[in-house]
Amino acid sequence: MGDIVGEIKDAKTIVIKVGTSTITHNNGTINFYVVEKLVRVLSDLRNEDKNVAMVTSGAIGVGCSRMGLHKKPDSLPEKQALAAIGQVNLMHIYSKLLNEYGQIASQILLTKDVIEDEQRKLNAINTFSTLFRYGSIPIVNENDTVATEEIEFGDNDTLSAVVAVLIKADLLILLSDIDGLYDKNPKHHSDARLIPIVRGVTRQIEEYSQNTDNSFGTGGMITKLAAARICNSHGIPMIIANGDDPYNICRIMAGELVGTLFIPNGGKNGEEE
Ligand code: ADP
Repeated sequence: MGDIVGEIKDAKTIVIKVGTSTITHNNGTINFYVVEKLVRVLSDLRNEDKNVAMVTSGAIGVGCSRMGLHKKPDSLPEKQALAAIGQVNLMHIYSKLLNEYGQIASQILLTKDVIEDEQRKLNAINTFSTLFRYGSIPIVNENDTVATEEIEFGDNDTLSAVVAVLIKADLLILLSDIDGLYDKNPKHHSDARLIPIVRGVTRQIEEYSQNTDNSFGTGGMITKLAAARICNSHGIPMIIANGDDPYNICRIMAGELVGTLFIPNGGKNGEEE
């Protein structure tokens, strides 16, 4: 245990993913209280000379709120158009706030071909490393406006794990609207127990996850466990923590056990603790 805590404290390259439910209110408008704190924490990590990439959801939700829609439409062109509107709004806010803390935001929009095509993969790796050399904070999202089923990641949990592998991150933190992985969905079961450490995503662990019913979010715990598998199989620890308090990131970096920690190399039959 001591080793992994030390590894996390010393992590040089960190990917932080924020879910829609963390950065927006239920009606899709931006939660400035959270976003401002988040930006402050990211800026501090940069000041400590860490490489930080943030994967952010929320574009479609923000697009809906800009257009006065109360629910995500079903048609693909509408969703892609709303993503285009929301993405620019989201980036405006991140960039403006990061600027206030002397940081340089950059935007990277990806589709799955970035891992399927060797040249594109290499280009993406080189772009990330150059941005880190510039001291910029890349803000990553799926390229929702052009993604079709064949080339989309489908959810940002998977995307953030892919980015963590691509840039050889030392840690992936998924910030969600929940404290971590529970043994059942705590939104529906008051007796649900938080699982602090997971060594290996076993079938039992998978049974704990049920999909979410948020109106703007996608994914739930199933995609977070998929992300844990990807990370852990590449030796990268992953943490799910509550994004309502972005200072949880500081606690994690100080070596506190916050949320659920997925430890790599737990073996095929890894167990919960
Ligand atoms: P985000 O937008 O942060 O990615 P999601 O809504 O996709 O968040 O996923 C988090 C949600 O997953 C929780 O709010 C909860 O409703 C649901 N969930 C389902 N099963 C579990 C579980 N076993 N432990 C924790 N959350 C769970």
